[in-house]
Amino acid sequence: MINIKELTIKKAHEALKNKEYTCVDLAQTYLTEIENKNPELHAYLAVYNDVVEQAKKADGMIEKGKGTMLTGIPFAIKDNIFFEGKVVSGASKILENYVATYDATVVTKLKDAGAVILGRVNMDEFAMGGSTENSAYGPSKNPHDISRVPGGSSGGSASAVAGDLALGALGSDTGGSIRQPASFCGIVGLKPTYGSVSRHGLIAMASSLDVIGPMTKTVEDAEIVFNIIKGKDKFDATGVEGELPKKNRYIIGVPTDFLKGVDDDVLNNFNQSVEKLKSQGFEIKEVSLPTLPYALAVYYILMPAEVSSNLARLDGVKYGSLKEGKDLMEDYFLTRGEFFGKEVRRRIMLGTYVLSTGYYDAYYGKALKVRELVKQDFEKVFKEVDAVVTPVSPMPAFKFGEKSNDPLQMYLADIFTVSANLATIPAISIPAGTVPREDKNLPVGLQIIAPRFGENILFDIGKRFEE
Ligand code: GLN
Repeated sequence: MINIKELTIKKAHEALKNKEYTCVDLAQTYLTEIENKNPELHAYLAVYNDVVEQAKKADGMIEKGKGTMLTGIPFAIKDNIFFEGKVVSGASKILENYVATYDATVVTKLKDAGAVILGRVNMDEFAMGGSTENSAYGPSKNPHDISRVPGGSSGGSASAVAGDLALGALGSDTGGSIRQPASFCGIVGLKPTYGSVSRHGLIAMASSLDVIGPMTKTVEDAEIVFNIIKGKDKFDATGVEGELPKKNRYIIGVPTDFLKGVDDDVLNNFNQSVEKLKSQGFEIKEVSLPTLPYALAVYYILMPAEVSSNLARLDGVKYGSLKEGKDLMEDYFLTRGEFFGKEVRRRIMLGTYVLSTGYYDAYYGKALKVRELVKQDFEKVFKEVDAVVTPVSPMPAFKFGEKSNDPLQMYLADIFTVSANLATIPAISIPAGTVPREDKNLPVGLQIIAPRFGENILFDIGKRFEE
């Protein structure tokens, strides 16, 4: 019997190396767990039919002494990442039967490392949302309380890892979609530096913000996965590489100007986390990020603008579902009206509006300028401190239906996460204890933000914090 509750990527790697069990044993254990628990959690949209084959290959790699840290490790991938020959739907009806024609670069890297990809996991449609309630296939559940959302948009990834249905998962983060579900489900989620992980084979949401990253149980595991998936790629022109050095002592900034509107328990929890960091010997310094209160407004202008442009390709003609009308124009209307969900249509309309003649300068142009100010704010602060900490989300996991009827309430939940995307800098969510809600204790994450290429700083501080 493999005790998957306690298992991490690191521990499984040791066990596989020492031949305590095989990759096939491990894969089968997870397949059984998925069979038992997925009907309730609804983390997976599909389990792949070649898992055992993949695991056999991994055993072969270990046999030949060619194993890596990820060989035989059971993984889940978000349903917006291409795996050649498998359906990839973006949790949308418009791509319900769309089969990926190539592997995303991250998938190639996982495969080369010998990882075993179990299947594709649920998300908000085209990664728009924070609860998986926008999935066309129904929401995923939070393993800590199934009456609550797992967060989103990478909620299936978080639910799978927290529910022991995978040892690691890939998510994507445009405005918080890795960090917020990680926080809601009590796991680690890393949003890497923009461009440090290839977006080739990721269904684009907002291309100047999108990044793929790992979701795991520990910081060490996130580091292992990041080191395998990162790197420049000839298929992604925005690729960058770099690494800031680790230090012996870190100064951590706490912004004072935007902790308003945070749930009392979450604020208490955050203050305790800051105390903990202090007691661990980190120097804490108050910092000011005056443009941060505007980050959310900027995000909700730039993101829909890019969404409206990226999703224009889904017209029923080139690929995906088609609902035919009497002419081409009606094809577009019927297809996009029928197969896009409400939130996706809302954002396409908002994006088209802010880009339209007469409004472009007032909205899109201005938001671009404020984005620059947000970047500069962080640059200034990172001259004084090595990292900045904030809550991940102003509240713990909420109940199904609590926010889904009020898009603005849902958007407000992204207040702490969007700025790292706007500034193209890395940020991580780390489990920071729980807050009580009804008869349950719900996980809450601490967000640590670093300068560009500061992933090592996040891992360093994160590992000490999780002790
Ligand atoms: N919740 C945010 C949104 O709805 C973030 C989405 C994301 O990062 N993909 O846009």
